Amino acid sequence: MPLKVLSHPLVDDAMAALRDKATPCPEFRALARRVSVLLVAEATRDLPTAESFVETPLERAPARRLSARVVAVPVLRAGLGMLDAFLELVPSAEVGYFGLERNEETAVARRYYEKVPKDLGGAVTFLLDPMLATGGSAAMAIEGLRGLGARHVRLLSIVAAPEGIALLEKQAPDAIVYAAALDRGLNNRKYILPGLGDFGDRLFKT
Ligand code: URA
Repeated sequence: MPLKVLSHPLVDDAMAALRDKATPCPEFRALARRVSVLLVAEATRDLPTAESFVETPLERAPARRLSARVVAVPVLRAGLGMLDAFLELVPSAEVGYFGLERNEETAVARRYYEKVPKDLGGAVTFLLDPMLATGGSAAMAIEGLRGLGARHVRLLSIVAAPEGIALLEKQAPDAIVYAAALDRGLNNRKYILPGLGDFGDRLFKT
């Protein structure tokens, strides 16, 4: 399964502050958005464009326009922290939602909500899930997207754990994973180490 871990000084700098437990919620939101912009830029690098023309104030100039149908699917609730960044870079994207929650005791994911555009066959679908921990929820979401016809799925995560990558290698080998950081592993409560804590709690101040 293709895995792309970003290597960029701006990502490193934002990740340092995002991980810091002293970073307050408003700053955490801004940093999550900043890292997500950099992730989206990388993950959309090879999207197709079509030749076009534009009238500048001076003359007609050749131009290229995005020609792919793009669908973004944040996994509720933490994935919402990445959606604004995605739409800033791809304003034409369609948006769907998967509501998945993990049982705090067993870390097993359960799907409680789904509203995703249909017929994803021709679309490039970006799943937004900031913490790829066990990989259970990402695998479940990718399976759901496949059920809607998706063939080109890209998972955008801010932090990934080797355990999650290994699960997706088995269960979704043709998905492409983009991560801002690849961390050491999971603790016994399935939190990523060193990680940044509970992303949803820090994002929504719960
Ligand atoms: N979800 C989180 O928010 N943090 C983790 O470390 C793992 C899963």
